[in-house]
Amino acid sequence: MKISEYLLSCQLKMVRLRKKKLLPGQMSDVGAFLFVCFMIPFTFLWEIFFITPELYKEGGEMWYLHVVLGTIMLVNIAGNFLGLWLVDTSTRHIVVPSKKIGENWHYCASCEAVAPPRSWHCNVCNTCILKREHHCMFAGYCVGHYNHRYFLLFLAWLWVGVLYCIYFNTTYLWNMEGVFSFYAVLKFIFPLIMIMTGVDMSTAQVAIFFWSVHVAAFLLVSVLLVYHIHLIYHGKTTFESNRRIANYDLGWKQNFIEVLGKSWKLALIWPFGKSKLPHNGVDWDTEATWKLEAPKNR
Ligand SMILES: [Zn+2]
Ligand SMILES: [Zn+2]
Repeated sequence: MKISEYLLSCQLKMVRLRKKKLLPGQMSDVGAFLFVCFMIPFTFLWEIFFITPELYKEGGEMWYLHVVLGTIMLVNIAGNFLGLWLVDTSTRHIVVPSKKIGENWHYCASCEAVAPPRSWHCNVCNTCILKREHHCMFAGYCVGHYNHRYFLLFLAWLWVGVLYCIYFNTTYLWNMEGVFSFYAVLKFIFPLIMIMTGVDMSTAQVAIFFWSVHVAAFLLVSVLLVYHIHLIYHGKTTFESNRRIANYDLGWKQNFIEVLGKSWKLALIWPFGKSKLPHNGVDWDTEATWKLEAPKNR
């Protein structure tokens, strides 16, 4: 039996969820994690119940349209974040007889176990991660083979959602009288200080604070999204890119399917939809073997 058939037959048949140590183990991760958990629902409520009723007639067609669009974004952002946070992508469940171990496997001294190609140890998660991308501070967990899809689509939907919020918040502030004065410039530069010190605790100041958070988030998410799309396009992880490992570039279309799965169209719009990954995270095709394998996979 080939190693791929063996592994597929006995394990990793479905998405496995983490059950232990779900909360981030590092203090910096806790802060980032709580920020995301608070900001996503709070932003949604703020935009739906405060900003949009100021811009559109509540209960009118346009208001309902934005509520529906906002809900679609919320479901995709939150759903993909849950996938990123909860889907197990560690090597813990992999049991392979020693004779099956191929040449690209390596021994991990921390796990006291062998690890398959592309997987690397994370000191924060304290385990080896399949096709380790990087440790994500917002989820407090590593991005790897099985949650890469959720990470990428979390970023993509967050980008859309943040841009949408910036449009609303800018329109709201633009319509407000007296926002654009010298004093107001200070409010834009130090929005949180204004609220914390009690200098200005008006709803306008909270709106300015949200506007600033969204603009900062937009810049950060844009950079991350471009960076990761570029990596996936070339079939690399951050680790492989830094070490100039380029064995796994199967062509840009296949590289995206390797992350999003075979039902990628469903994955794009529905985070809870099943999208089977072409590889199991253990047994990999390289550029050379893919040329032989590809006709069978089409
Ligand atoms: Zn390890
Ligand atoms: Zn990690």
